[in-house]
Amino acid sequence: MKKILLLPGDGIGHEIMEQAKKVLACFPNLFEYEEGYIGGAAIDKYGTPFPETTLKQALEADAVLLGAVGGPKWDSLPSENRPERGLLAIRKALGLYANIRPIDIWKPLIDLSPLKPSFLKDVSFVVVRELTGDLYFGTPRGVHGEKGSRSAFNTMVYSEEEIKRIAHTGFRLARNRKKKLCSIDKSNVLEAMALWREIVEEVHQEYQDVALSHMYVDNAAMQIIKKPSDFDVILTPNMFGDILSDEAAVLCGSLGLLPSASLGSKHALYEPIHGSAPDIAGMGIANPIGMILSAAMMLETSCGSSDLAFKIRSAVAAVLDAGFRTKDSWSDGMVLVSTDEMGTKIAEHILR
Ligand code: NAD
Repeated sequence: MKKILLLPGDGIGHEIMEQAKKVLACFPNLFEYEEGYIGGAAIDKYGTPFPETTLKQALEADAVLLGAVGGPKWDSLPSENRPERGLLAIRKALGLYANIRPIDIWKPLIDLSPLKPSFLKDVSFVVVRELTGDLYFGTPRGVHGEKGSRSAFNTMVYSEEEIKRIAHTGFRLARNRKKKLCSIDKSNVLEAMALWREIVEEVHQEYQDVALSHMYVDNAAMQIIKKPSDFDVILTPNMFGDILSDEAAVLCGSLGLLPSASLGSKHALYEPIHGSAPDIAGMGIANPIGMILSAAMMLETSCGSSDLAFKIRSAVAAVLDAGFRTKDSWSDGMVLVSTDEMGTKIAEHILR
């Protein structure tokens, strides 16, 4: 039986995790669940955002489902002790090098998008972002000199091995979709990015059924807005992916709708793309759909249960079609529901 670790975290993390649990409970006796602490909740209980107990639970689990971390209560702590450190630490401990963010437009919510509906027809793509290399982790890094004459520096570095493994992830995904992969780089000015392009081309030799294209990051930032339906799989280094994946998320209209997966060679973690939304925590108005769809991704990718994932996604579509909306996505004529009611409606639909 697959073992799943649930880490609600902080803020709305608890409220939306309850809804994911409700949905997962529609498939009884298939998975084993355990709960744990991360982020601010872990600081309060153990004095650290990623305690040993959570590390042990995560290493023993087949998949981790996480809510969100952070909040004003812990904002004054030194940066190395803040809740967000828990997130970086768990990604590192589990060796999660690939972040997968599907961008799908839900037809009933098309008017939420800042783009005209005509631009969004047939938009469905996945951003595959490298997660453990690049400027964020490269050394040397630091600040030299005295105030007034300081200089600061970071290192963009990628090894062939790091590029190869993320490229394989991207090509494998593309193979199961529309067989198109667009690799993002800045190879015209950066050596690390020239190596990125060279290795992506090398790996492509093993995936000749997938059409490969390359795009400079500045052009990609424009094309995601101008012609989002042209993309299928976007493969990107860490920093460019950080920016492009948030830009892509805007197409969907609400942060509360989007799931993500972070994958390593042995472990996997699934979470909605948003944070702990302290401004609405405890109000019962958070949208739980991104969390519920993260659970669907988990069932599909880590539990070999594509059929159950399909049931969840169909239920989400049906509930949206029927006009039920949480506050973030509500408009005239729609039925306003709470976080809890949205979870219940989706679960009821699965059980029909
Ligand atoms: P946020 O994503 O929490 O919120 C941004 C805005 O979107 C807020 O107005 C919020 O109310 C709204 N929102 C977010 N999720 C929503 C949902 N499911 N339904 C309805 N509305 C939703 O980002 P922020 O405000 O910049 O950060 C708040 C805290 O979360 C900070 O402590 C930050 O460090 C942390 N954070 C955590 C993660 C994570 O756990 N992966 C990611 C980003 C930010």
